[in-house]
Amino acid sequence: MKKEKVIVIGSGPAGLTAALYTARARLEPIVVSGTQLGGQISITNEVENYPGFPEGTTGPELVELMRKQAEVFGARTVIDEVTKVDFTGGSPFTLETHSETYEAEAVIVTAGASPKRLGVPGEEEFIGRGVSFCATCDGFFFREKDVVVVGGGDSAMEESIFLTRFANQVDVVHRRDELRAGEALKRRAFTNDKLDFVWDTVVEEIVGNGKVEAIRTRNVKTGDTDERVTDGVFIFIGHYPNSSLFEGQLETDEPGYLIVDDKMMTSVPGVFAAGEIMDPVYRQIATSVGQGTAAAMMTERWLGGRE
Ligand code: NAP
Repeated sequence: MKKEKVIVIGSGPAGLTAALYTARARLEPIVVSGTQLGGQISITNEVENYPGFPEGTTGPELVELMRKQAEVFGARTVIDEVTKVDFTGGSPFTLETHSETYEAEAVIVTAGASPKRLGVPGEEEFIGRGVSFCATCDGFFFREKDVVVVGGGDSAMEESIFLTRFANQVDVVHRRDELRAGEALKRRAFTNDKLDFVWDTVVEEIVGNGKVEAIRTRNVKTGDTDERVTDGVFIFIGHYPNSSLFEGQLETDEPGYLIVDDKMMTSVPGVFAAGEIMDPVYRQIATSVGQGTAAAMMTERWLGGRE
């Protein structure tokens, strides 16, 4: 069993910032990366709203800079996944990964969120064969093809615009007749010649033979059903928190977001949380970075208070 002062679960902006701050406080944190080093921004192509980058940057570049900066001060990144935690006896806590068992005096949970599924037939079956949750990852495979995007928020618009670089045609299927996305993205979407909108419509089934060939849709106002031929279906309908690992151990709200107090502490003293696993509202890189900072500072204070 490896004994550590602080373990950070997750390596997105919240986790890497918590690592930077706890490393500078000489707590020698370990960051257990999770399945994707960098979390969601590692698959985000353009980042235009993170301060300090007037020309914009990319998710992978930002992650790399954040990781390097934390490591300069002694943070260690472990490419592994936490598979089990035991917070029941209080600090020190036990954490298991695929390859190691750790004991940690304090834990900062920054396990993030994952893309929501539509829950329709064909969705799971065709993942990687036409169904995607990441335009940055898969857009390239749809050069000169027709694709459908599902959703009406900022993510759907940002990713649709990105997809027009590759696809011939991008049809956005949205369940209402108004976008949730902010004005700037809306304007860019409405003025893009390759983007069309299918309003008041839900996807009921994704069909194909070995790969996606069409979607079956229903107009929610008229009840009319339709079949739309397409090569790909990109789904951007929000996220759910990755909190199942902590079920029964940390308090959550109804959708599963970890509940923290004003010191970023969860229901278990010594276990802190930051980023999208506890934040259903802001979900920005900048806010995750702020929450990671606060969680790290409170972790340091909590550990100091025990000495
Ligand atoms: P979101 O804002 O929650 O939007 C989800 C969209 O999917 C909504 O249009 C929603 O429809 C639709 N939807 C949800 N469930 C659905 C279902 N079962 N079937 C069909 N459609 C469904 O999620 P998001 O776009 O991922 O954005 C999340 C947060 O990140 C937001 O705060 C956003 O501002 C932020 N964000 C910001 C940027 C940026 O600033 N550049 C980029 C990406 C994300 P309704 O509208 O009818 O509810």
